[in-house]
Amino acid sequence: MIDTLPLAIQVAVAAAFGAVIGSFLNVVIYRLPLDKSIVWPSSACPHCARELSWYENIPVASFLALRGRCRTCGARIGVQYPLVEALTAFMFAAAWWQYGPGPLLASRLILGAALLVLFAIDLEHHLLPDEITLPGIVVGFGFSFVNLLPGWRSSLVGILLGAGVLWAIRKGYYLVRHEEGLGLGDVKMLAMVGAFLGWELTLLTLMMASLSGTVIGLGLIVTKRGDMKYALPFGTFLALGAAIAATAGQTILHWYLGQL
Ligand SMILES: [Zn+2]
Repeated sequence: MIDTLPLAIQVAVAAAFGAVIGSFLNVVIYRLPLDKSIVWPSSACPHCARELSWYENIPVASFLALRGRCRTCGARIGVQYPLVEALTAFMFAAAWWQYGPGPLLASRLILGAALLVLFAIDLEHHLLPDEITLPGIVVGFGFSFVNLLPGWRSSLVGILLGAGVLWAIRKGYYLVRHEEGLGLGDVKMLAMVGAFLGWELTLLTLMMASLSGTVIGLGLIVTKRGDMKYALPFGTFLALGAAIAATAGQTILHWYLGQL
């Protein structure tokens, strides 16, 4: 089995497997908002619709070999494709190195893949599809019965707290401003994070999301790339916040509680 090989080889295999999964995540990111099937047909150039051959579907390598252009029509291939593949490869390698095989690895990788897809779709379409968030809540809660952390009680409180806090903020914003500030997608997304990470890390996710949202929002204002009305999709910040909470959350919480 793979866990008897030297660690460097295990990590390399995990990275290669991650790159292939990343390639599939690209398909999900591209097709899910368009309501297209994610299993059929096989990948094609979005510009000239020619089906891609196997050697044009190799993660990262094909993009580099084709210098980012379609072989027949010359249309540019978005740099997000190799980026998503490389990021997923890194995520798989790092998670294997950190957790080793087991249910914790599986739950963290599923959460990571969901966050990556939600980040990309929210950034482009300002949309957080139910197809990801709702099954995510169920799967995250299911894993909480197998994994020691967070345990099913913290997971359940995380779901209710994550959804409740954002739902209250959404209501409050609407009462004050008479416009939608937060979508229901954000509410479901934080419930999903709560299911996977438990209530403590859900609060940390919200803190990190608000903090990174403020920093990046101020940056956009200072550099005059956007103004206060510029609608930055909050789901992208929730994804960043949850990624920080999932990887460094325990360390941050220990440090933070030690300061009190
Ligand atoms: Zn083409």
